[in-house]
Amino acid sequence: MSETDLFGNPVDPPRHTASGHFADVAIERGIDASPTGLTYAVPVGMGLSVGHRVLVPLGRGNKTATGYVVRLTTKTELDAGKLKPIQALAPGAIALPEPLVELARWVASYYVCPLGMVFGAMLPAAVTRGTGATRRQVVRPNADADASAVKLTKLQQAVLDAARHQAGWAELKHLADLAGAKSTSPVKQLIDKGMLETKHQEVVVSSLDLRAQQLAEPATRLTLGQGQQQALDSLSRRLGRFGVHLLHGVTGSGKTEVYLRLIEALRGQRETPPGVIVLVPEIALTPQTVGRFLARFGPDSVAVLHSGLTAAQRHAQWRRIEQGRVSIVVGARSAVFAPLDNLQLVIVDEEHDSSYKQDQLPRYHARDVAIKRAQMAGIPVVLGSATPSLESYANAVGLSAVDASSEQKRAPNPQLSIAKSPSHTYLHLPDRVPGMRLPEVEIIDLVEERKARRGIHLLSRRLEQRLAQVLEEGAQAMLLLNRRGYANYIACPDHNCGWMLTCPHCDATMVYHKDKRLPLGGLVRCHHCHYETVLPKTCPDSGHKVSVFGLGTQKVQAELGQKFPDARIARMDSDTMRRAEDYQQTLDRFRAGELDILLGTQMIAKGLDFPGVRLVGVVSADTSLNMPDFRASERTFQLIAQVAGRSGRSDRIGRVVLQSFNPEDHAVTRAAAHDYAGFAAHEIQTRVAMGLPPAGRLARIVCRDKDHVAVTRHARELAGHLSAANAALKLNVHLRGPHPCPIARVADHHRLEITLTADTPGPIQKLMTELRNQGQLISDQHTAVDVDPVSLL
Ligand code: ADP
Ligand code: ZN
Repeated sequence: MSETDLFGNPVDPPRHTASGHFADVAIERGIDASPTGLTYAVPVGMGLSVGHRVLVPLGRGNKTATGYVVRLTTKTELDAGKLKPIQALAPGAIALPEPLVELARWVASYYVCPLGMVFGAMLPAAVTRGTGATRRQVVRPNADADASAVKLTKLQQAVLDAARHQAGWAELKHLADLAGAKSTSPVKQLIDKGMLETKHQEVVVSSLDLRAQQLAEPATRLTLGQGQQQALDSLSRRLGRFGVHLLHGVTGSGKTEVYLRLIEALRGQRETPPGVIVLVPEIALTPQTVGRFLARFGPDSVAVLHSGLTAAQRHAQWRRIEQGRVSIVVGARSAVFAPLDNLQLVIVDEEHDSSYKQDQLPRYHARDVAIKRAQMAGIPVVLGSATPSLESYANAVGLSAVDASSEQKRAPNPQLSIAKSPSHTYLHLPDRVPGMRLPEVEIIDLVEERKARRGIHLLSRRLEQRLAQVLEEGAQAMLLLNRRGYANYIACPDHNCGWMLTCPHCDATMVYHKDKRLPLGGLVRCHHCHYETVLPKTCPDSGHKVSVFGLGTQKVQAELGQKFPDARIARMDSDTMRRAEDYQQTLDRFRAGELDILLGTQMIAKGLDFPGVRLVGVVSADTSLNMPDFRASERTFQLIAQVAGRSGRSDRIGRVVLQSFNPEDHAVTRAAAHDYAGFAAHEIQTRVAMGLPPAGRLARIVCRDKDHVAVTRHARELAGHLSAANAALKLNVHLRGPHPCPIARVADHHRLEITLTADTPGPIQKLMTELRNQGQLISDQHTAVDVDPVSLL
């Protein structure tokens, strides 16, 4: 009798199995046609393991494609005679460790993206291209040679001794240098005498000098504050097993010192140096955090990975990790995939930072991938922040512990209703390090300010006065405005006309950027598609002279220049900071006291530690408040709290002046009061009411096409499939849409979104997997699947 399935239909009889050696290969650029890879025959003697990057024939024309071995078997249900053989190992002998292959599978499944693309994201392009790699002759002592049989010169003996001290193969020049020889001749003579064996090996040449990036360590070892010590003790006890630990410490509470000590403790326990990954937001990397890790553990133990590196440098760093020459990796988002052996600890600093989410395929969240990697490895992960994401906070204190009526800031009140028990441990550092206090914050109501004063001023009288004071005292100030350019509205002054300059390719207004180098003194630019054009002089509809209003960092700089002509001011935004060096240089000048005021976008809000800063001004707390995104309040709170945290990092009290048209908004008032718990309680209640994260889980599918009819049809079809499968599988996922995205058109593409919400991630995953298996949901240029999205525009 043939077998039947749940619905009484006969199932296909199992196909015959053949034996031999077979490999499932995920194609690097492959679309989602086969989620687990394509099966190939393994030629005899190829010496293949899981994780190898290989060349395979693809399609009818057998065009060569690259892919990754994800599974090796001796049996297949396919017709073995028809399977194509793997052609060769890809150049560069690249292999990913097996745990990373496992992790890639999880990422591909959870974030609904092609497996091959996950591998593509795991490996820097510089590595697969072999940038900076050259073949060099290398040598090592010949174990079979009889040293007593040959006579050596002093120099030759010195070279041989140096070679014996090396762990493995060494370059000729390196040995010559160690032995104090002027040329490589003595090394070559030793090869001729058979004392050294030699081969040619690929080495990566790069000029990254990590030594120069070390920050000076304090002369005496710091005594940890009580909170730091408790957190450290608690974390030290939890080494060696999986757990997620949220280290919630206010700005300046010394979180970095806790990380450093924890790594020291871990290294003290193990014989071979344990692997540690430290993730840091991109922008915080270059100057300070890296410097502290390098200083503590030495440049020979630490690799860095960030976008400020050249391709060859990135390749060289990756090889140092892969070859086991370093045990600590400090890096941005993609460093979560660092091929470290013996991984024992992962730290995610500033875990709330939105740069951890990749906004293109694969759309993974590095914090969550870090948690998964730690879980698979059975090791702890530490999430640190002064302003934790509400997701992490709710996971740490439990939604049920969040109480909106609680006025107490020190510990969340363990009352209130919605039962959900914490999965993370919660470690709190409520105070700054000894001798340092949180700054005093004043809120300036810009509505009142406008009424009391003629003309438009970006700096309130109070902010101006505080700036003058700080400059007089010879201290420093930082000024935040989270919008670059000069002005973000270009419009007709005639209200009856109502014309406003929008991008011809996007549903967005254009921003005026001044630029003295240009013939017309500036241009207007779209911040979404980067389209640029000249500033129109008159309104195309009514002929009136256009007016330019709104605000941007350039305008603040102009006003500062007028009001404080003697102050040394620098602006830091992505217009002025094109390269990592620009950023580093400006920060160095600020640290050295060569600048009085540092003005910038959110770039200046993160992680910087300058004891000379006694004033922080927030020019407008409103830029992120009015975004059509349910996280607008959370972002605003984080931005204000983070930038405020740059003030008063010394024994002198710091001040913050916070300007807003919404001075009563709870994100503004709670940030001013340093009241994270109060903010979180209130905000989480709103989210619970709306069924949004962290109270539920969210995924978003954006359909995009230049053809409006096509995109509408596609989105409706997809929504139909989703709702049919949702009903058939009784998943209870809440489906909304399709409806236009908040920015309905970007770069001539019309955009429609469908959102999926549920109490837990399971049903959303099941639903999307079902559609994926049916071939109805494919991540491609028309369909962007975003699981746990952080941006909703
Ligand atoms: P966070 O990352 O929490 O904002 P940091 O780790 O940057 O704080 O520490 C802020 C400053 O305080 C740093 O300059 C650091 O060297 C210093 N610091 C850290 N721990 C102590 C301590 N126990 N005593 C004195 N200074 C400390
Ligand atoms: Zn545009």
